[in-house]
Amino acid sequence: MNTTTRVYLVGAGPGDSGLITLKGKRCLQRAEVVLYDRLCNPALLGDVAPAAEQIYVGKNMGNHALPQEQINALLVERARAGKVVVRLKGGDPFVFGRGGEEIDTLAAAGIPYEVVPGVTAGFAAGAYAGIPLTHRDFTTSVTLVTGHVNTRKDPQRDINWAALALSDSTLVFYMGLTNIATICTRLIDHGRAADTPVAVVSNASTPKQRTLIATLADAAQEVECQAVTSPAVILIGEVVRLHERLDWFQRSLPAPEEEPGTVALKTSVNAAEKGRQRTNILIFTGNGKGKSTAAFGMALRAVGHDQRVRIIQFMKNDADVGELGALERLNIPVEQCGLGFVPKPDHHLYTAHCEAAEKGLARAEEAILAGGDDLIILDELCGAVARGLLAEQRVIDLLRRAPAGLTVVLTGRRASSALIEIADTVSEIQPVKHALEQGIPARKGVEF
Ligand code: SAH
Repeated sequence: MNTTTRVYLVGAGPGDSGLITLKGKRCLQRAEVVLYDRLCNPALLGDVAPAAEQIYVGKNMGNHALPQEQINALLVERARAGKVVVRLKGGDPFVFGRGGEEIDTLAAAGIPYEVVPGVTAGFAAGAYAGIPLTHRDFTTSVTLVTGHVNTRKDPQRDINWAALALSDSTLVFYMGLTNIATICTRLIDHGRAADTPVAVVSNASTPKQRTLIATLADAAQEVECQAVTSPAVILIGEVVRLHERLDWFQRSLPAPEEEPGTVALKTSVNAAEKGRQRTNILIFTGNGKGKSTAAFGMALRAVGHDQRVRIIQFMKNDADVGELGALERLNIPVEQCGLGFVPKPDHHLYTAHCEAAEKGLARAEEAILAGGDDLIILDELCGAVARGLLAEQRVIDLLRRAPAGLTVVLTGRRASSALIEIADTVSEIQPVKHALEQGIPARKGVEF
């Protein structure tokens, strides 16, 4: 190692601490200052001398612990103070790691630096999911693409979808989980076959690794249904078909039952089946129209898969709504445990509303613990909590006791932060305009 070097930009690898290079490890042992990211395995810091300064500069998408300029400034400042500085970055520093920007600053400041490559997440995902990124029978190239595209901000930097769609390259999307629907749609629109296989590999190379196998047509839906969490890379291309045969890593992990409360570790073709192995909580909240409607849409989806659905409504008592007739035809039991418009707490009828909500919660408890349903919709429950009809903590305690495999949907305005915290998926429906405000009365089949 060069004694004049002040800053080492080191790739930490994707997760498994054994995937750092020998040179990277030696840099950590020599370091007097280490600046490290969120995606670096903390076990790697075990190599750092106790006296060394360790600075967490972790970044989350859109949520920077330290702005990039401050990281750059820290590197320069510590290096100028004569320290050996290691800038440890997840994966490879030059793959979507802003490593270029960091050394640009060092170069401008005349600070000697070295770059130590690392195993990038996409390569680790391929290796650990048994998906060779190139294979003579399937493809001749690999393309690493950012899935974090904000074309509204910067239309010039939009991805060349046509080129990606028409090549036979294996595509590896980083930071793409939240945009997966757009990614898949764009590729299909530009000519990639809708049945092109897709693998979403999360937490690659760690004991929490999961691989979801889908197609361009249904990957977004499967990601949502299985509540796949980041970090994840999306691998797209014919090579994904090899996963079934070549998967070695997840097969070696303990069976899902051995990790209570977590999502199945080994996930394969039957994605929906695996998704049922934990409680899945969804919330539709916000001030716009469509929260209960969205929940009823989920009921349709579930019934289509022969799942059992039950609906318990809080606050509502309206018998003249179209959904009641439809739900009856679909054999979905609906219990209305509300009294309609809720008055202020000092009103003499308020207690009656509390009692009705209590009855609803007792019914919800029975239904949830009985374990006979696949999907339970607790319509307007968030609103009932927000209006003080029910104690938030009791709802949370009940949701915590819900059996694995059950999906619970809560709707209603002003979902509390604790409810949002416990949920897996939360959508906020924002009003843009509403016909009622323009004097158009509520219409059959639209508002009720
Ligand atoms: N420099 C890093 C990439 C940083 S961008 C590298 O070379 O790997 C962050 C993105 O990397 C995440 O959004 C995710 O897409 C991917 N990623 C990082 N670690 C991952 C892991 N263990 N499993 C799957 N994807 C990962």
